[in-house]
Amino acid sequence: TLPAPDGDFLGQLGTLGPDERQTAADVRAFMETRVAPIMNEYWNRDEFPRQLIPELRRLDLLRRIWNEDGTRTPNATVLEGLITLEACRVDVSTAVFFGVHAGLAFASVALGGSDEQKAEWLPKMLDLDVIGAFGLTEPEGGSQVSQGMRTTCRRDGDRWILRGQKKWIGNSTFSDFTVIWARDVDSGEVRGFIVRAGTPGYSVEKIQGKTALRIVENGLITLDDCAVPDSDRLQNVQGWRTTAEVLKLTRAGVAWQGVGCAMGAYELALAYAQTREQFGKRIGEFQLIQNHLVHMLGNVTGMLALCLRLSHLADAGDMRDEHAALAKVVTAARCRETVALARETFGGNGILLEYGVAKHFADTEAIYSYEGTNEINTLVVGRAITGLSAFV
Ligand code: FAD
Repeated sequence: TLPAPDGDFLGQLGTLGPDERQTAADVRAFMETRVAPIMNEYWNRDEFPRQLIPELRRLDLLRRIWNEDGTRTPNATVLEGLITLEACRVDVSTAVFFGVHAGLAFASVALGGSDEQKAEWLPKMLDLDVIGAFGLTEPEGGSQVSQGMRTTCRRDGDRWILRGQKKWIGNSTFSDFTVIWARDVDSGEVRGFIVRAGTPGYSVEKIQGKTALRIVENGLITLDDCAVPDSDRLQNVQGWRTTAEVLKLTRAGVAWQGVGCAMGAYELALAYAQTREQFGKRIGEFQLIQNHLVHMLGNVTGMLALCLRLSHLADAGDMRDEHAALAKVVTAARCRETVALARETFGGNGILLEYGVAKHFADTEAIYSYEGTNEINTLVVGRAITGLSAFV
């Protein structure tokens, strides 16, 4: 029942199906009533408001995307995109909490787990009774992790010994388990493990001092001869191919983060321009400010069209790596530009948390760099269109 976003200028969201519009409306209402009133406090505390988890459970969002057996619902990627869009219009961190659990961690178990593992974990994950995290990036680097993974696993009877570190791992400070990706010292294969919180040799230190996404908690994980039973090795992982498949799925979600973050910033700037007065006029009357607003709106409109098409391709089973990579490159860059213009529209108030746009401005920088930096995603597209690889 809430009005459609001002940032949907061409009414693209209105063309979607009733279940899709309902999902967007549910998340919009949740974000505006439950998250918006507390988000600045939690940003300052550098903390995730865990009391939101039972409230999110009642929204039952995951079951709109995933089935209990790990297959996806027919329009899962569109729904996931809309959830992400509506969350990011208000707060990107909330979308990241959801994306790490419902995207990265869930997809790892769904794509890499055996039937028994899926039956053990997925229903509880759908209900947010257990929260997952995804540990791939390492302190020595994220871009090279497919080739330069330093975290190792070694078989020792019916268990595996894990050694190494994982950096930036969202939700890991309170997650019930983290999917850890490690290279087998004997075969050289990449393997995935469900590492349960509290396992001896597994420790998490919260990363302090972030200047973006401060409401998400990110951890530095240390695996110090951490023993994991073979039954918690993701049994159907086919080396790096499975990890890449997970990332392809979630990259589409990150592209949507760019749309939502930019749309939220545009809407804040529009409202400010209509009320803020200088030289006896509302600043929205000035041509240069209108130019900013129209430029932002053009970006948002194009990004939304791109992501809707991407999601329709994904739900039809036709999305390729380079499609997701192109969407992520374009939306992250356009988001950065849009959010900078929005912040500028606020003048000095644009750097104050209470005006909202500063949070979008900061969060854009994380969107730009995770799930494959802009450079890496550019090279993925470049390789696909030229047939020539810039990677070593
Ligand atoms: P680097 O790989 O060190 O890159 C540094 C720079 O070099 C970048 O500009 C990069 O584009 C450039 N570069 C590298 N190689 C090339 C090349 N071949 N050609 C041109 N340029 C190149 N990871 C997880 O596993 N789980 C998580 O939950 C998670 N959450 C995150 C949350 C946040 C807030 C952040 C910031 C990161 C998160 N990450 C997570 C990690 C993220 O995926 C990495 O930061 C990202 O992959 C980039 O790796 P890096 O930071 O090590 O940068």
